[in-house]
Amino acid sequence: MICDNITTAANGHLLFAGQDTAALAREYGTPLYLMDEDRIRRNCRTYTAAFRRHFGDRARPLYASKALSCKRIYEIMREEDMGVDVVSSGEIYTALQADFDLSRAYFHSNNKTDEDIRYAMDCGVGCFVADNAEEIRAIEDEAAARNIKQSVLLRLTPGIDPHTYEAIATGKVDSKFGSAIETGQAEEITAFTLRQPHIDLAGFHCHVGSQVFAEDVFERAAVIMLEFIAHVKAKYGCMARQLDLGGGYGVRYVESDPYLDVDAKVGQVAASIRETCARLELEIPEIHMEPGRSIVADAGMTLYTVGTVKRIPGYKNYVSVDGSMADHPRYALYGALYTCFLANKMNEAADFPCDVVGRCCESGDIIQRDVSLPASVGRGDLVAVCTTGAYHYSMASNYNRLPRPPIVMLRGGSEHYAAVRRESPEDLCRNDL
Ligand SMILES: *Cc1c(COP(=O)(O)O)cnc(C)c1O
Repeated sequence: MICDNITTAANGHLLFAGQDTAALAREYGTPLYLMDEDRIRRNCRTYTAAFRRHFGDRARPLYASKALSCKRIYEIMREEDMGVDVVSSGEIYTALQADFDLSRAYFHSNNKTDEDIRYAMDCGVGCFVADNAEEIRAIEDEAAARNIKQSVLLRLTPGIDPHTYEAIATGKVDSKFGSAIETGQAEEITAFTLRQPHIDLAGFHCHVGSQVFAEDVFERAAVIMLEFIAHVKAKYGCMARQLDLGGGYGVRYVESDPYLDVDAKVGQVAASIRETCARLELEIPEIHMEPGRSIVADAGMTLYTVGTVKRIPGYKNYVSVDGSMADHPRYALYGALYTCFLANKMNEAADFPCDVVGRCCESGDIIQRDVSLPASVGRGDLVAVCTTGAYHYSMASNYNRLPRPPIVMLRGGSEHYAAVRRESPEDLCRNDL
């Protein structure tokens, strides 16, 4: 199985986190996002334990909350002793509603507005991850007006190609994010930042990409960043206290994706950091990483009800479901692969080739191409799409005026509760004047 929280009952129903998906679909309706709360917590603990073991007590994993942002997730992160990344005033507001301690939040984005900067300082966001010199100027101005010293990390691009989808590769020299070490711009912005009286340059950040499996991407990034840190220390007398290596560990969407052992991976990165720091005669900075996808992706599953099944002899077959690219955007965005099942007929042979498609008026509205489902698939059957905990609800839209699905949390093998309710027709018109 794609993940060990997916199993099959004797009656042929797909079980997720030990619970009958057909029964959940009946109770909550479809489309439906399910989240395995126990799995989210387990993924957090894998990171917090690995960090403690390999990096020591000061190091901290930060949940990149753009992967799934809602009040409940910040409560879980608070309980699991995680820090968080936020990327907008909206995420900051949501975290506040969950009583998340924002001194443990890192504020990202390549274009924070002046309002964002003011709001984040009002809310006591612990650290800004600054992307560019204009932003440093804006942070300095706002901090000066408040007579505070704002802690800042600088986002740098180490010039590494992580071999993932182009749209989620972010660490190359020509990226829209950060300042490149290679072009000298990283040093320029560092020198500029050090001249600002109301900014405390706490260290440096990089994020090379997402859905990364490649062997040594984080080790190579760490070496490049530490060499830069050593250069800055020698030339400017400023030692970075923090080094944030970003997020991006890959998860299994399809059977051909490898398993990734986070503890072992973090161990390898730590070994590389120790070795490099010894070579450069640097004290080891506090290490952060920012997993998003690998915290929530495999804790999620989407359920849809089948409507039309269209057979075009000699061409292809379409199975249409009651969801769409509006709740499942990553196929339309970059052809992301997912594993699909007919959740109420797991005991039947899946030998009917089809494309599972959404209900939007858009040819690109594909859930997944080249899927095999049982040939008896028909109206009222239940399609499950696995590994949809990351970048689904958070990227969902109301395209075609479709209400966003609810998020139902599963825990303890039998408990379930709604963490986000289904949008109503009134919600869809709420802002229409
Ligand atoms: C998106 C993002 C992450 C999280 O990436 P995942 O692939 O979800 O782990 C972490 N850091 C930054 C800066 C990001 O933009």
